[in-house]
Amino acid sequence: MLDKESNRSTAHGSEEQAYDMIIIGAGFGGIRMLHEARQLGLSAKVLEAGSDVGGTWYWNRYPGARTDSEAWAYCFFFDKQLMEDYDWPERMPSWDQVLDYIGHVVDRFDMRKDIQFDTRVKSAIYDEVANKWRITTMAGETFACTHFVSAAGLLHIAYEPPFKGLDTFQGEWHMTSRWPKEDVDFRGKRVAIVGSGSTAVQILPIVAQSAAHVSMFQRTPNYVTPGRNHPIGKEQMRAIKDNYPAIVDQCQKQVFGFPMDPANRLFSNVSAEEAQRVFERGWEAGGFRFLFETFDDLLVNQEANDAAAEFIRGKIRAIVEDPETAELLCPDYSFAVKRPPTGNFFYETFNRDNVSLIDVKNDPITEITPTGIKTENREFEFDIIIFALGFDAVTGALTHMDLRGRDGVTIKDKWDEGPQTNLGICVDGFPNMYIISGPQAPFANIPIIIENSVDWIGSAIKSTLDGGYDMFEAEPAAVAKWGEHMQNMLDATLLKAGYDVNAWYLGANIPGKKPAVLFYFGGAGAYFDEIHANRDNGFEGFAFKRHNAGAQPRTVAAG
Ligand code: NAP
Repeated sequence: MLDKESNRSTAHGSEEQAYDMIIIGAGFGGIRMLHEARQLGLSAKVLEAGSDVGGTWYWNRYPGARTDSEAWAYCFFFDKQLMEDYDWPERMPSWDQVLDYIGHVVDRFDMRKDIQFDTRVKSAIYDEVANKWRITTMAGETFACTHFVSAAGLLHIAYEPPFKGLDTFQGEWHMTSRWPKEDVDFRGKRVAIVGSGSTAVQILPIVAQSAAHVSMFQRTPNYVTPGRNHPIGKEQMRAIKDNYPAIVDQCQKQVFGFPMDPANRLFSNVSAEEAQRVFERGWEAGGFRFLFETFDDLLVNQEANDAAAEFIRGKIRAIVEDPETAELLCPDYSFAVKRPPTGNFFYETFNRDNVSLIDVKNDPITEITPTGIKTENREFEFDIIIFALGFDAVTGALTHMDLRGRDGVTIKDKWDEGPQTNLGICVDGFPNMYIISGPQAPFANIPIIIENSVDWIGSAIKSTLDGGYDMFEAEPAAVAKWGEHMQNMLDATLLKAGYDVNAWYLGANIPGKKPAVLFYFGGAGAYFDEIHANRDNGFEGFAFKRHNAGAQPRTVAAG
């Protein structure tokens, strides 16, 4: 099914390269999509801004960066032999271990030849006359394709430091999301970390080991549960491999796509003493097990959530020796209403003599000076400033591109009031465009979401082509219905309070960005059931069309 369109000259005089499919991004999503395209017999090219594969793990190579999902669920499940062959070294792999894994996958499937590195896409424009997507890169190269897939990632566009005076700073400064490949030497240096989210929580303990002094500038504290990372021995790896069918099954069913069973326990059904024992076991189990293996109602029952929050505040007060610092680190909002970070000796780090916590909620940063950071009431001197300010998450990768569908409508305008999709994968008015890990897909462990959505995309394309169609498009009524569904699911949880605490999963962290429900909060398992049922029912809420005038479209109407 190679694209029949011959290469054509563009206005710039360069040759436009034609493929059946163009994929943006060579992270987990883009690589999995490339594999699917090959299975379908499509010619496909991945355009990747970085110089190598890895996506978010390529860019966020700051010291201490590691997953907070367990390795055996932070991987591809599409190939049994791949799962059998690869040995993970640690429970929560570091960024370079994840890159090693992704590199292993692309080499094993000989994928590098279909990936063009150092290529950032500038625009993707739907050409209605030809029913083609025309892609232009920053370097001016042009591509045409029928099927256009964005796997640009949900945490790609960094929130750049908004502080005046940054250009006057005479020291070194870095953004964690664009960390240099060369080592940054903290020895003997006074270092500032601005931010207190998952990224800051990971980098702080590592920098503290060698810097003369580190100050963390915190606006909002987080509930940090311990990661309990450890090496994976040969025997444990063997047991994991032998257990893979059950692990995959758990990920398919668990609310956030993790390899865990439900706790089968509600907070209201146990005594206060038993609740403490359960929380203690969850705390020791590490990572997201505190959230998901203690009580099944932590995200819907305020009383249960309050108890979990108080338990963690008790841990903070017990670990952090200076009472004033401990109180500053204690959040006063509901647990998990901001995405909870996983830490490795995070709270313990504040007991070091060379670490300070600076409260910038009550005394905000006003500017960066030539020698450091100025707040409303204080001034600090630093040699290095690290900004861990987060991302224009989920929608940013698409709205920062010149992406236009029918009638020249830009995605930025279309999503001005918040994203609109059907199934979190397709957008009405943007035919043959698919988004992987985009808005209105589940807030969950990413690789299992990718496996399921790519599987759905593959089926949609196959049905389009097998039916003799050349256009597949979400219907507006179905998109509106999906949007209402997102809101209803969020409203059923305590997570709606995320609007009050700048939660990025509601778009509330970026000044000027319209807050909106950016994810499907009904649980990963429920989402997989919905998209599989949609596929099995013939893609309800999507239209199959023939581009040629006079052709009879086969439309499967929204229910
Ligand atoms: P984030 O959670 O959005 O945190 C950004 C931090 O910057 C917040 O503490 C925020 O404070 C602060 N900030 C923003 N503007 C500020 C200002 N003007 N002054 C002072 N502070 C300011 O970003 P992130 O830490 O990069 O994490 C984002 C997501 O990436 C995570 O939630 C997670 O999903 C993912 N991540 C995962 C891992 C992992 O797998 N282990 C590691 C890192 C990141 P406020 O809270 O007050 O807004």
